[in-house]
Amino acid sequence: MNVTQTEVCPCGRTDARGKVLVYAQCCGRYLDHDTPAPDAESLMRSRYSAFVLGRVAYLEASWHASTRPARLALEQGQKWLGLEVKRHRVIDADHAEVEFVARSRVGGRGVRLHETSRFVRESGRWYYVDGEMH
Ligand SMILES: [Zn+2]
Repeated sequence: MNVTQTEVCPCGRTDARGKVLVYAQCCGRYLDHDTPAPDAESLMRSRYSAFVLGRVAYLEASWHASTRPARLALEQGQKWLGLEVKRHRVIDADHAEVEFVARSRVGGRGVRLHETSRFVRESGRWYYVDGEMH
């Protein structure tokens, strides 16, 4: 899937007035430029958008080296339907958790992923470490 810079961001983030941000002002800043995501929620959202857009290299680069799979293969035919961030818990300056629900469809079957992901910041960059399913 592709998204233009002026389309709404796949992650569905809204501004203070409840308007969905366009891709260039949201995850596009991290996916298409070398700008580090400023917090764990922004990184989590950009990783969701990377799944939507099939950006494997970004998913690998934002996955902590200690837990990153040797080879990341995306599920073929998975259609992502939406993301809902339920909680962003800042533990300290370099550790945070984000609880979310991501909905998708694979082969006509609806899949609801409810996970709390752990993130760590190293040298000014946030990384996904691992997650617990609910
Ligand atoms: Zn976004």
